[in-house]
Amino acid sequence: MTAPTTSRVQASDVLIIGGGIMGCSTALFLRQRGVSVTLLETDLVGRQASGTNFGNVRRQGRPLYQLPLANRAIDIWRRMDALLDEDVEYRQRGHIRVCYRDRPEMAERMETYAAEARPAGLDLELISGNALRDRFPFLGPEVLAGSYSAQDGHANPRLVAPAFARAARRAGAAIQENTRVTHAAKVGEDFEVESQDGRVFRAPILLVTAGAWGNQLSAQFGEPVPVTARGPTMSVTEPVPYAIPPSVGVMTPDEVETVYFRQVERGNLVIGGSTRGPAHPELYRSYVMPRNTLSQLRQIQRLAPALRRLNIIRVWTGIEGYLPDSLPVMGPSGRVSGLHYAFGFSGSGFQIGPGVGDVMAELIATGATTTPIDAYTINRFQGDD
Ligand SMILES: Cc1cc2nc3c(=O)[nH]c(=O)nc-3n(C[C@H](O)[C@H](O)[C@H](O)COP(=O)(O)OP(=O)(O)OC[C@H]3O[C@@H](n4cnc5c(N)ncnc54)[C@H](O)[C@@H]3O)c2cc1C
Repeated sequence: MTAPTTSRVQASDVLIIGGGIMGCSTALFLRQRGVSVTLLETDLVGRQASGTNFGNVRRQGRPLYQLPLANRAIDIWRRMDALLDEDVEYRQRGHIRVCYRDRPEMAERMETYAAEARPAGLDLELISGNALRDRFPFLGPEVLAGSYSAQDGHANPRLVAPAFARAARRAGAAIQENTRVTHAAKVGEDFEVESQDGRVFRAPILLVTAGAWGNQLSAQFGEPVPVTARGPTMSVTEPVPYAIPPSVGVMTPDEVETVYFRQVERGNLVIGGSTRGPAHPELYRSYVMPRNTLSQLRQIQRLAPALRRLNIIRVWTGIEGYLPDSLPVMGPSGRVSGLHYAFGFSGSGFQIGPGVGDVMAELIATGATTTPIDAYTINRFQGDD
């Protein structure tokens, strides 16, 4: 293991660039494996997508290939309080996904998905007709059928990445906030990474967990990736008595119709979905477009008409990196030994985040992982224009 030095050049076994849920959880799990680690974050940990997201801890709807990773993550979510010594408001209160009467083919797809997901460890209950309305009386008349996952749930995204960072720091990781990496290169056997204020960090292993900014770093190693940044539209209502334990969402191929909500124990309803807005990673800015919020509110009234009566007290968005196939880049570099990536989680990285951290730590510490991630190789983009 490399000993930290006190000179201008700071050394450790692993350097991580990016302090969202991916970077912070990897830092903790690396420390648990006895690996020394320094994490570099432009701003404050958890301030970008990991801290601004909707908070769905949802396995259903993920590609079947991703379920082993999602299951690995759920095992960690379940022991999160003990792992982090903090309550990150993870509540396993279920997730119901519904479809509308004018899209009956979605109900068939739900059935197929439920049959295929069961052997992968995800049990889904298909519900329709009176049974659906008895169980979920807030659903609107346009809703045809639903698929319920009892073991999914939600958590407070503002708490999770900072809690991972604090736990990693307690376990011996160096977490360097206000440290924006401007240049990264491999010099001899080590990576040399320079921050905007002129500090240099060195390690034989480099992990890029820079979210929507991942391409800025992978391109420095000759591996550009077509990341598009967008800002999902979020709203929160005034608090009302707590009555809706599960997360609720619509299954539809139409982005405009895609809407979801959850109620926090304090009573507020958090709403996400419908049209996403613009995001500018180079400026660290994303914008809520009023027309997108209005579209979201139209859609939420179809899903749960009673929500129409609630006042929206705040809207926000965040910067998320999307890849053309909606899958992340995860795994070793195709070109540079010792370099690893985990970025571009395309709107669904929060649930799998702790699993990603565990897998990346395993991969870095042992050279292999028991969870399939080959589909996420960065090589799938090499050769693109
Ligand atoms: C509004 C919104 C709603 C979402 N809802 C959900 C949901 O309900 N469920 C779900 O599963 N997923 C959801 N997602 C997706 C999920 O939040 C992300 O996939 C996940 O948080 C990505 O984590 P990350 O660590 O890769 O990225 P981030 O949290 O963005 O972290 C990357 C970090 O890298 C840092 N960085 C970048 N460049 C540099 C550099 N050069 N030097 C140093 N640091 C750098 C950034 O400052 C940033 O803090 C949502 C996303 C958004 C934006």
